[in-house]
Amino acid sequence: MTTLRLLSDESGIREAAKILKNGGIVAIPTETVYGLAASAYNEQAISKVFKAKGRPQDNPLIVHIAELDDIKDIVLSFPKQARLLAERFWPGPLTLVLKRTDKVASSVSAGLNTIAVRMPENEVARRVIKASGLPLAAPSANLSGSPSPTSAEHVLSDLDGRIDAVIMSSASNVGVESTVVSLAENPPRLLRPGAVTPEGLREILPDLVVDKAVLSELDENEEAASPGMKYKHYSPKTETVLVEAESGRFCEFVNKQESCAAICFSEEQALINKPCLSYGNKEDSETQARLIFDLLRKSDRFLVDKVYIHAPKKSGVGLAVYNRLIRAAGFKVIKL
Ligand code: AMP
Ligand code: MG
Repeated sequence: MTTLRLLSDESGIREAAKILKNGGIVAIPTETVYGLAASAYNEQAISKVFKAKGRPQDNPLIVHIAELDDIKDIVLSFPKQARLLAERFWPGPLTLVLKRTDKVASSVSAGLNTIAVRMPENEVARRVIKASGLPLAAPSANLSGSPSPTSAEHVLSDLDGRIDAVIMSSASNVGVESTVVSLAENPPRLLRPGAVTPEGLREILPDLVVDKAVLSELDENEEAASPGMKYKHYSPKTETVLVEAESGRFCEFVNKQESCAAICFSEEQALINKPCLSYGNKEDSETQARLIFDLLRKSDRFLVDKVYIHAPKKSGVGLAVYNRLIRAAGFKVIKL
């Protein structure tokens, strides 16, 4: 199949909407990462998404809507807490897990009785949803297991020839996938951290619990509250190790290793005498989030045996960055 390159203008959006209405699959920009969109009502279109990505069948998708009104076809009820969260954080990088209706294709939620929904802020994404007149199920537009795509070029490097089209728009400005919160259980549970932080959520959900899988590896026999959390994820081809240490010790450690490269904070770059990429200032979690997936992809170009990544802080947006990096590293962490 030839993957069409569409512009993010009126004609490109019209073409994307036409493909989606006909059961095709199109990569679209969102503020978090690029998503691989398909009609949430079309079982066959959804199966194309799973196939193009090589995504495990038991890992459910997020449904994207443009207006609050669109939600009534998707969820059975929209409780008060959901309404308050939507008022505060939508449109934006927050996904809510709620009880689902039967209208949505059952493969979207991988057979669960709940569904994940989000209203994106990205203008192009919103226009595609409106033009198609459909709720769009859209997981990240990458091959399953590889770093999530934050640009149209990332999408093409994984999926060229496997999807109908990609909208060639600008890089995603958040850079990590949405925060996922389940309101289908009591107390509400943070399933995946993102740019909407636990601290921000607790202003509306004081009893929010953080799922164990956010920061640690589940045992083989443990059931994942968020199926996506149990898979190896975001991995460059090169072996990646997360290093928790203060700056001086991190640089000293990296400088002593053979055949390695580093992903470090900007203030450390001058102190490291190995190939090295910086992902922003130590305190600047937003920049780290925006750059990290691109740098994970770039780190394969160093042709070294290992990439050591200086671990970010675990609070605020840093928790989301840490959550992605610990998976990229296959849970290999060195504490110095
Ligand atoms: P992605 O679309 O690639 O960003 O992945 C979607 C994430 O949302 C995965 O981690 C899924 O496990 C999670 N998710 C989607 N639907 C549900 C659901 N109904 N219950 C729990 N987690 C979900
Ligand atoms: Mg993904």
